[in-house]
Amino acid sequence: MTNQTLTTGELNELTAGLHRLARNLWWTWNQEAQEIFQELSPRGWQNLYHNAVAILHEVSDYELRMRLLNPDFAQRVRDLLKSFDAYLAESQTWGQQHAPALRSRPVAYFCAEFGFHETLPIAAGGLGMLAGDHTKSASDLDLGMVGVSLFYREGYFQQAIDNNNWQTEYYTLLNPKNLPLEPVLDEKGQPLICQVEIGMNLVSFQAWRVNVGRVPVFLLDTNLPQNEQLLRDLSLRVYGGDSTTRILQEMLLGIGGVRLLRTLKIQPSVFHMNEGHAAFLTLELIRERLQAGLNLPDAIAQTRAECIFTTHTPVEAGHDRFSRDLMDYAMHRYRAALGIPLDELLKLGRVKPDNAQEPFCMTVLALKLSRHANAVSELHGRVSRHMWHSLYPDRPVEQVPIGHITNGVHLLGWTKGTVRNFWRRKLTGQSLNAVPPEQRVPLAGWDKQLTRPEFWARMADPAFISDEEIWALRYHLRRELIEFARRRLLLQGQRLRHGDFIAFDQLLNPDALTIGFARRFATYKRAPLIFQQFENIVKLTRDRERPIQFIFAGKAHPRDDDGKRYIQHIIHLSKFSDLQGHLVFLENYDMHVARQMVSGCDVWLNNPRRPLEASGTSGMKCGVHGCLNLSILDGWWREGYDGTNGFAIGEDSHPESVEEQDRVDSANLYKVLTHEVIPLFYDRDERGIPRKWIQRIRRAMVTLVPAFTTDRMVREYVQKYYLPPAG
Ligand SMILES: *Cc1c(COP(=O)(O)O)cnc(C)c1O
Repeated sequence: MTNQTLTTGELNELTAGLHRLARNLWWTWNQEAQEIFQELSPRGWQNLYHNAVAILHEVSDYELRMRLLNPDFAQRVRDLLKSFDAYLAESQTWGQQHAPALRSRPVAYFCAEFGFHETLPIAAGGLGMLAGDHTKSASDLDLGMVGVSLFYREGYFQQAIDNNNWQTEYYTLLNPKNLPLEPVLDEKGQPLICQVEIGMNLVSFQAWRVNVGRVPVFLLDTNLPQNEQLLRDLSLRVYGGDSTTRILQEMLLGIGGVRLLRTLKIQPSVFHMNEGHAAFLTLELIRERLQAGLNLPDAIAQTRAECIFTTHTPVEAGHDRFSRDLMDYAMHRYRAALGIPLDELLKLGRVKPDNAQEPFCMTVLALKLSRHANAVSELHGRVSRHMWHSLYPDRPVEQVPIGHITNGVHLLGWTKGTVRNFWRRKLTGQSLNAVPPEQRVPLAGWDKQLTRPEFWARMADPAFISDEEIWALRYHLRRELIEFARRRLLLQGQRLRHGDFIAFDQLLNPDALTIGFARRFATYKRAPLIFQQFENIVKLTRDRERPIQFIFAGKAHPRDDDGKRYIQHIIHLSKFSDLQGHLVFLENYDMHVARQMVSGCDVWLNNPRRPLEASGTSGMKCGVHGCLNLSILDGWWREGYDGTNGFAIGEDSHPESVEEQDRVDSANLYKVLTHEVIPLFYDRDERGIPRKWIQRIRRAMVTLVPAFTTDRMVREYVQKYYLPPAG
């Protein structure tokens, strides 16, 4: 059908469809959707930081209708809306086939942070990214699931670096009207208000709904006029304030979250506490049962039977502990509703229930009140069983009931547009290097291919994708990263009052082996480790034949001065040492920066102090882009590395002391860099192609990409933990 004349009805349908689409985060993992929003206003797309809702505010309805008079554009929008609707209406999905029980009684997935997209910055780091990716895969699999978190209207902090190279934090107010959020309404069409007893107060809250494909996520928000200012600000910032703020936020999340679901008549069959922050939900489930007339032991047993818990870190400070006084204060009013004396309550959060000196620990509460608990990698499982052995003194350590499901990433969400376009053209027959006609796939839903393990198995085959294609793609991605970095550095430079003149277009070398490091600047991640060998590293960066260069990014927690000193040190080196021009620090690490870096770098460096990296997920985002991991054998890499698909720093062992560990790891890092990484990258044939390096890329694509996805991970959660125990 040609559509020279679009009827008014059709125009209305397409404009309404785009508005609907902008309010469902499905567009963030659909390339065609992003291209359409971008095309509507390319500058706006950049300035509004890829915000589809804001784009549709910036482009008037009149303009939108006029743009749709272009039949080609209208056709693309129509096709896009068709795939969106098909996605939402799909039948025969994995979830329908393998988890029908969860459709009427879903999984309630609670997490203090969710990383969905750079325009909704309500995550602090890897935990939130994982929760966001879990939700996207639950949607793709069509699992019965709802998410619960808080709406932090100032989100997580934005990072700026001052003249002393010191990290400073600033906050921007999120406007729900400009975001893919809908207020949850009551029958009368008014914002639905629920209440929870916090401290001495009865706190009111409303909720915002985020549509993540097929999965709704509810964000609780206390910013209501009927609350005192202090309580309105309870949900102001991600992990804001001190431990008092923390405990009150956690009451809102756990207790408030359950109340919201009940009010919405959602009856979950399983409550998944993703990290201990959400563990107060168990108290509310106990309260409901006590109120229904059960005694405490039965209420606890039944609550246990419907909860599962995932622990995410072996770092002590990562486990919330609250003093008796703080619990007394925070639970003052709720306790009366609950009907359990404080001393009984405290026992639920102690390893030794009668030890009055022991603080109340959220992880202990979660472990005691869940039918299954798990860690997030095989090694982390082992470490966690040791860490919590004292809770199960009658069992040998191997039988401590903490299993593991290794983390993953949501593949389509993390694959850069450049790579998606490459495969789209190749698989649908649009490119000169397209696959033979009998192997081609239709344009609609072509990207499903990228999530199939059989597709990644083909990366071993040079007839499917040649070395030349891989290397050209690598060059394209590295070039894009370097131009992104230059642009960012130019903007950062404008904030420097006394900065020397810097030729931004000459920073970084598009031909050089580019090593990336980006993560939270928690000290155990040891960001500056590589610069312990400073003189040697300078020589490597200045090598004319085989240069290397570094791109760093990351935020330190606002109250982590040690982490901020690491940032200061690295920025200082980047500006004032012989590394200038070969080392840059990109400010304000977030999902967008992450996507540029994991795609453009050749090597992804990870050197945590083993075994403190429970899993790590940034390295899992590399494989689809042909970036190779260079990592300590900690977290996921201990399972992922097979000797052919990247590089390992050191051995699978524990040194004696921290100092010894740092010294040994730094020496090993330098060794693998100079003996393996650099020689392999620069070993070129007569056409200039590093065949052996590309062989490692192929191995990474075959062995890592399909194994470390949230698709695989969520299916494991379903089969091991979510479905009701048999019998
Ligand atoms: C992937 C990601 C993380 C988590 O990465 P780790 O390897 O666990 O440190 C944190 N922040 C952002 C912005 C990410 O994209």
